[in-house]
Amino acid sequence: MKVFVNIPKNNEIYWAYKRPQVTIKIQSNGNGVKTVLTNMSEIASALNIPDQVVMKYLGMKIGACSGIKKNQSFLTGRYTVEMIEDVLEQLIAEFLLCSRCGIAEINFYKQLVRPSLPVREPILRQCLACGHYNSSISHDSKMFSILMKCDNNHQWMKVKVSPKARSLKYMFDNLRDAILPSEDSCCGDGVKCIPSLSDISIVLN
Ligand SMILES: [Zn+2]
Repeated sequence: MKVFVNIPKNNEIYWAYKRPQVTIKIQSNGNGVKTVLTNMSEIASALNIPDQVVMKYLGMKIGACSGIKKNQSFLTGRYTVEMIEDVLEQLIAEFLLCSRCGIAEINFYKQLVRPSLPVREPILRQCLACGHYNSSISHDSKMFSILMKCDNNHQWMKVKVSPKARSLKYMFDNLRDAILPSEDSCCGDGVKCIPSLSDISIVLN
């Protein structure tokens, strides 16, 4: 029988957010012992986060190698359901719950300055239930690289334009307005006048 627990674990009977409890199978072959998490894809989809992210986080916290091969999520070594459940609850508390309303409705957003540049802006976490922006994930944290590696071509994380990009756009718009000749800037000789650089620098100030 499948056992479901609340996200996060609590004693509320009527709680909208639930996930299956971890189920495991210990596998031992020539390469050593592995703990296979047999229902990881169901847990990950209940948490609304890729299973690769959950597995990388578990591996990092437990200090084991983690991986997904042939749809089988595993950790190297032998672990109990309780150990894995504990670490899973840490992941939920740390990243998936809103600090204001306590609901597991966090959406992750990549911030782009320019689509061609590698993303170095913090990852934003907005709660869909109350709109609150939770603390962002800094680009020098381990979770940042886990999330970036697991997000192939914006499949999972949505993209927001960063404030830096917005100010750059603002600057370019100003620059374009300064460079493109207006009706007033024509001397009347039929040739459109281009403002001098000093005029442009005034606009940028
Ligand atoms: Zn919230």
